[in-house]
Amino acid sequence: MSTPFPSKRAPVFADVPDEKWYDWRWQLSHRLNTVEEIEKVFPLTESERKALSTSGLFRVEVTPYFISLIDPEDPDDPIRKQVIPTDREMVPFTAMMADSLAEDRHSPVPGLVHRYPDRVLMLVTTQCASYCRYCTRSRIVGDPAATFKREEFDLQIEYLKRTPQVRDVLLSGGDPLVLAPRILEELLTRLREIPHIEIIRIGSRVPVFMPMRVTDELTEMLQRFHPLWMNIHVNHPNEITAELAAACDKLTRAGIPLGNQSVLLAGVNDNVHLQRKLVHDLVRIRVRPYYLYQCDLVEGAGHFRTPVAKGIEIIEGLRGHTSGYAVPTYVIDAPGGGGKIPVMPNYLMTMSDHKIVLRNFEGYITTYEEPTDYTPAMAAKWKGPKRPEPGQEGLTALLDGDRMFIKSEGFDEIHDRHGIQHRLKDESKWKPLGIGPGEEKKQD
Ligand SMILES: *Cc1c(COP(=O)(O)O)cnc(C)c1O
Repeated sequence: MSTPFPSKRAPVFADVPDEKWYDWRWQLSHRLNTVEEIEKVFPLTESERKALSTSGLFRVEVTPYFISLIDPEDPDDPIRKQVIPTDREMVPFTAMMADSLAEDRHSPVPGLVHRYPDRVLMLVTTQCASYCRYCTRSRIVGDPAATFKREEFDLQIEYLKRTPQVRDVLLSGGDPLVLAPRILEELLTRLREIPHIEIIRIGSRVPVFMPMRVTDELTEMLQRFHPLWMNIHVNHPNEITAELAAACDKLTRAGIPLGNQSVLLAGVNDNVHLQRKLVHDLVRIRVRPYYLYQCDLVEGAGHFRTPVAKGIEIIEGLRGHTSGYAVPTYVIDAPGGGGKIPVMPNYLMTMSDHKIVLRNFEGYITTYEEPTDYTPAMAAKWKGPKRPEPGQEGLTALLDGDRMFIKSEGFDEIHDRHGIQHRLKDESKWKPLGIGPGEEKKQD
């Protein structure tokens, strides 16, 4: 396939025969992780050398393919920053946590995170093809001893079988595509035997770190498990190569819709013009930008964080300015485990009865006249089950249910001032106001 995207190989790998270079097993077994190996590709800075010589650092591995994308002359290269550690990784910061998303607390069985009502995240391995320095799961990922654990997997399958509200299973890790092909196939087979699982998703950076893993054999196997979706992880246009384009072409031809999840990283991709180029290149290779993540409050990632304003500025620069397909949702994964929270510029300026005032991407201000004769009874009827689980309805319960309010923790205690009855003329008329179902005002 001819593509406008480059294909690169660092001079140190010039003599590697193509059969080896394009063999993913060769790429995996020739990953670089020491000062000595990496310095054959480019000279390290003092800070990088110091980090690489520190024990206890989050694991370092870079595939020969991916390290070849780094400009050897540029110590600030955006790909280099993602995979080569510096001593800034060892600097703690306020609010830093090992498990900032409280995933462990949301795990009914080891390696399975059930945070949302109808879908789960399954951590099927701790291994990756290369390791991102800002990894949100650095607390568990990279341990060379721990890989796929059959006992854990059996427990995960048991949980899924007895939890029929789960209709979407997201395989992650680590990276599911570094699993031995047989194990991955078995895993997908066992999931597909569970009738209530409607879709399976794979989150993988393998197509980016090691596109040669996407073989015809792999896509032929994957397409037996449809509907199957995949999200890849590209942060910078320099990661989009002829090899990645070919891998994505194979995956989409196998009927797997591709999305991209990026992390907003200081000094790597925190620039609106660069992000525009990134999303344009992604849609050219038929990858739909899905999420842009605010960097998590995870150990080792402090120096990658940007203000949230930077993410909003990027979305402001994309929405309306370019194809809607190319605009990701900017999200903050809630510290403490609240899930992904979308954050975006404000387009709704103000409103009154039946009239709202909006602004567009250019700052043009317009109004929308709402109907005056619309009643709730006119809405389309739904006779099927209603999905939200008790306690997870959120604001939809205020809009579409019996609830009148949501109280924060300790609200009742704080507001219990041992109140006395006020001088209401006709008490029965006023009583229901502000008193929710099942609540009685204390009287003495
Ligand atoms: C991100 C995530 C999902 C999937 O979220 P979507 O918004 O549906 O892509 C599911 N479970 C957990 C724990 C997650 O972090």
